[in-house]
Amino acid sequence: MAEPSRTVPGKGKVPFDPDWFWRQFRQVPAPDYAEDLGPCRIWRDYPVDSNHYPGVSVDGKRWIMHRLSWWLTEGSLPQEPFFVLHHCDRRACGAPAHLYEGTKKDNKADEMERGRWKGSGWEIRLRQYREHGVA
Ligand SMILES: [Zn+2]
Repeated sequence: MAEPSRTVPGKGKVPFDPDWFWRQFRQVPAPDYAEDLGPCRIWRDYPVDSNHYPGVSVDGKRWIMHRLSWWLTEGSLPQEPFFVLHHCDRRACGAPAHLYEGTKKDNKADEMERGRWKGSGWEIRLRQYREHGVA
């Protein structure tokens, strides 16, 4: 997938402004299992528990907000089968610290698939927390 240009042709040659992007969030406490990672940053007026991924128009193309957050932070996007996933399981969250690269199987956080994934130390603690209530 091509990376977004820093212009927004739909609005003329307006430079894409990361500062604008980062101002569109409101900060809320993370869920207990992700509080080590700092607060969630929820996109604009989206509900915290939204079932939808917020979209952002860049270069005439709709970007999924948290992928744009990842791109701005990391400078590239994961290639399939890897995706940008949420530690906090909140689709409207774009906090860079809450994002990680993983496969779709990894994304089934509350299902058996996640139990088969080794993951980072943090992920292992998260899994233990979810399964046993202790980290
Ligand atoms: Zn979050």
